[in-house]
Amino acid sequence: MNEFRLDNSDLSFALVAGKEKNCKACDHPKEAPIVLEAARAKLKVYDIKDSIQPSKYALEGDTFKHSNADGYEEILVENDDHRDRLSVYSAEDLSDLLMLIKDRTNSLSAYEFGKNLVISRRVGGHGYFDITITEIPHLNGGTCRVCQNTKNTANREIKKTENFVAFVPYSPHQEIEVEIAPIKHLKIGDMDSVLSFDLAGLIKRLLNAGKFETIALVEREYGHFTVKLYGRDVSNMEILGIRTINTEPELLAKALRERLSV
Ligand SMILES: [Zn+2]
Ligand SMILES: [Zn+2]
Repeated sequence: MNEFRLDNSDLSFALVAGKEKNCKACDHPKEAPIVLEAARAKLKVYDIKDSIQPSKYALEGDTFKHSNADGYEEILVENDDHRDRLSVYSAEDLSDLLMLIKDRTNSLSAYEFGKNLVISRRVGGHGYFDITITEIPHLNGGTCRVCQNTKNTANREIKKTENFVAFVPYSPHQEIEVEIAPIKHLKIGDMDSVLSFDLAGLIKRLLNAGKFETIALVEREYGHFTVKLYGRDVSNMEILGIRTINTEPELLAKALRERLSV
């Protein structure tokens, strides 16, 4: 049971899902169907078949309608051992990883899974990136919010390079949250090696400067990506503002009905 459900009182979404296993990378065989390689990085690709299912509703204006929208999830695994290597990576290593992720993003964009893309990695866990692409939620277009936000970082700015600005969001979702955005409107898929090296250097400096548990590349329908750093373990759904509920509402109601009738 995996299903997006819309709360029509506040237009927020819940993903009604089964319990997730602790480490998605340790569950997979060593042989991967696809292997991505660069000079200093290698990623094995495994799709996660049952995580995102067709969503039942799509937002249309301020109401919702039945939808056939689909999502997709896969993991990119850096190493077979359940141990972390992110802290020892150089900026060059990180830059190569970012370029592999960019290439993979471009390959996936051909399938039109949705306009919300999150690629997350635990800072201290097994070295793998978890990619989620989904239609939900719809943000109903408009001007690019990332372009707006990068123009107004003011006294929340941490560091600026030639191409990127790191800042604390105006209205964070987490206690510890840092955002790194390309100063110019940029899709992940359009990042070149100069930009990725600049970004990798900035990520490395921030990881050394603060205590972060999750790093994520996020791109929404505006097509302007950001890198998020969180002080705790945050799931891809949570990053998209969607809560995950592990108990089916119908099953909870049934259990309570049965208890009342005894
Ligand atoms: Zn593992
Ligand atoms: Zn933009």
